[in-house]
This record gives sequence, C-alpha cells and structure tokens, in this order.
Amino acid sequence: MSTMALRKVAVLGATGSIGGSTLDVIARHPERFRATVLTAHSNVSALVERCLQHRPALAVIADASLEGELARRLAAAGVRCDVASGHDAITEAVSGTLCDTVVAAIVGAAGLDSTLAAARTGKRLLLANKESIVMAGPLLLEALATGGGELIPVDSEHNAIFQCLPGGRPSLDASGVRRLILTASGGPFRGRSRAELAAVTPEQACKHPNWVMGRKISVDSATLMNKGLEVIEAHHLFGAPAERIEVLVHPQSLVHSLVEYVDGSVLAQLGNPDMRTAIAHALAWPDRIDAGVAPLDLAASAPLAFQAPDLATFRCLALAFQALRAGGDAPAILNAANEVAVEAFLAGGLPFLSIADLVESVLTELPAQPVVDVQTLNERDRSARDAARRILRNAC
Ligand code: NAD
Ligand code: MG
Repeated sequence: MSTMALRKVAVLGATGSIGGSTLDVIARHPERFRATVLTAHSNVSALVERCLQHRPALAVIADASLEGELARRLAAAGVRCDVASGHDAITEAVSGTLCDTVVAAIVGAAGLDSTLAAARTGKRLLLANKESIVMAGPLLLEALATGGGELIPVDSEHNAIFQCLPGGRPSLDASGVRRLILTASGGPFRGRSRAELAAVTPEQACKHPNWVMGRKISVDSATLMNKGLEVIEAHHLFGAPAERIEVLVHPQSLVHSLVEYVDGSVLAQLGNPDMRTAIAHALAWPDRIDAGVAPLDLAASAPLAFQAPDLATFRCLALAFQALRAGGDAPAILNAANEVAVEAFLAGGLPFLSIADLVESVLTELPAQPVVDVQTLNERDRSARDAARRILRNAC
C-alpha cells in the first residue's frame, strides 16, 4: 500500500520531443502521475492526440488564432477539458492549482515566463528549457528561493551532475568538488574541418548520431552551442565558476557527465541515450521508477572514448564561455542572437559557419549590462534579435 500523493503534472511543450518522452513516462505510472495540463505552440492535431490519450483538465494552445479549432476538434474527439490560448494562458495555468509539477519543455526564450512562474509559485520544476536559465539565471534562482519549490534538471548532463553531487545542495567547496565535467557527443560534424562545414545543410545538421531531438537543439548540438548553453546552465544550477566547468567530447553519449572531487574521485552517471531516464529521475526524485529504457549493456557497447573539444572549428562553444565570463545579460544576448541565427540557418538563409559569426557580431554590438528584472531582460532580448536580423539583412 502506498501513501504516495498523486503528482499533477503540467507538460509545457507537450507536442515536442521532451514533451512526448515525459508523457510516455507518465503513462507508465498512472498511480503516481497525472498529466493535468498540456500545452503546445500551434500543432492542433498533435495536441488533440495527446489530450485523447492523457485526458488533461486543461489544454492550452499558444497561437490564439487556433483556440476555436482546438475546442472543436477536442469536442469532436470526445475529450472534455477546458481550452485556453495565448502565451499568458500558459503562465496562468502553471501558476494555478491544476498542477504541482511543471515540465518546462518549450523550446527557446518563449519558455521564460512559464519557467519563472513555476519557480515563483513553488512548483516542482523539471527544467528542460535551458534557454530560460541561460537568459535569466539570477532571476530564476531568486524566483525559486521565493517560491520554495525545487528545480530538478532534465537536461541529461545536468541531471547526471545532480545525481553525482551529494544531496541537500551544499556549495561545491563544502562538498569537496573540484570540477564539473560536461560530456558532449560532438554532434553530427565531429572531426570535420571548417572547409568541410561550409556547405552543410539543415538536414545534415539535424541528423544527430545518438539522440532524436527537436530541430533547434539539433542544430545547437551540431554547432556545439548546445554545450555552450549547458556550460552557462551548469554555472547557475550548481554555482560553478567558468574555470571549474570542463567540456569533454564523448562520442558514444553513454557517460552523461561527471563530477571530480578534490580527493581524485570522479563520479559519473551512465545510461543509454534516452531522455526518459532523466525525466523519470526528475519526476520521481528522490524515488526511482521504471522509465521504459533498456538496460545499458557495456560489454556490447563501443569502447568509451573521450577527447578535448575543437574550439577553433566549433566557435559557438568558445563564444558561450566568453559570454559567461562577460557576465550580466551577455548570455541572454548570446541566446537571442543564436535563436535568430538557427532559425535563419534552418530556413536556408544563413550558412552553417556564419551562425557563430552572427552571434559574435551581436555580442560585440551589445556589451553586457547587469540583469535587473524580466522586463529589461526581454527588452535586451528584443534588441539582440533586432540587431541579428539587421546584420542578416545587410549581409544578403
Ligand atoms: P521540440 O521542438 O521537439 O518541442 C518544442 C515544444 O515547444 C513543442 O511542443 C512546441 O509546440 C512548443 N513551443 C515552441 N514554441 C513555442 C512558443 N512560442 N510558445 C509555446 N510553446 C512553444 O523541442 P525539444 O527537443 O523537445 O526541446 C525542448 C526544450 O528542451 C529545449 O529548450 C531543448 O533545448 C531542451 N532539451 C531537449 C532535449 C531533447 O532531447 N530533445 C534534451 C535536453 C534539453
Ligand atoms: Mg543536454
């Protein structure tokens, strides 16, 4: 017999890759979890399908012009749930009593307000939306302290580090931690020279060797900007200065990250590359539950290899370290410029290698300012996007 309370989970970005993996784990444990709120950007069909399976209390579509269509199609499918629309409706749903747990799996800066709302209202926050902590790290930590809830990282590297650190969140020094070591697969273009990268296409960039993910993070993985964003994420989550975070390329993606202690011990978390492990860990923490992930067969795996990243070819990683060292809102500027650059690359309007050039130009044009509040941050995000679009236009 269990006295376990049922967790009511809001899945933001329910139609995405992380959203789908989350709903898969939830469906395996109906006695523990219920998906009470599902949100999506504009894919009505996918949202209806997920509502049919999970029967939430509320479905939210960010694109307000699609609310009527969503309501009609849910009714036609026999799903009785409330329907809402718009960016603010997602934030409201997160803040209310429909959920005690929030899976932040919207992609990009669009996830910032809902992530902050979950923190402010003391929910258990499962953070996949790394862009929001990169943009607003200090504000998110402040909101968490105000709300009194907990943040469990879902990004596989940070989830791994969380698992390798002692509980209770003491400082790294008090825990005897020397360094955090983030592993990186190296993406689909590992080992290639700049000349070989000049003409790569979005399709090639989105073909990740080990993970199946949304298109934006797939491109970020190919440029190594994803690892750069993760370095900044680790800095905020674990209070680690830039010089105590190392990136190590590990093509097999079986070691998800490591923590090095002052006595020479190095703890690692291993597993198959399947996000359901991190999601199940974060949903059930401090318990452990089945995630539907196959056991890791090390004897049958390729030998584990490790190498230093090539910062001269994959300049985005170097730019992220630069933004972290610059401090203030430089990471938010980096993130905004990168979102515009990736969008342009995916649309065929920017060569792969120019992603880093564009991010660098915007960082130079908008030197770091202190992070004051969300409003100022959103204005800076807009300025960075405007600057990036202007540079793009002038280059064509
Ligand atoms: P995805 O593109 O597959 O899904 C994104 C989801 O966000 C969709 O449900 C979409 O409807 C929603 N969305 C997009 N724009 C929106 C907007 N403006 N307003 C409201 N909703 C919007 O992306 P993903 O791969 O699932 O990644 C989601 C987040 O998780 C990203 O921040 C990514 O960096 C992070 N992440 C993903 C993985 C992975 O394996 N996919 C791993 C670690 C971290
Ligand atoms: Mg990751």
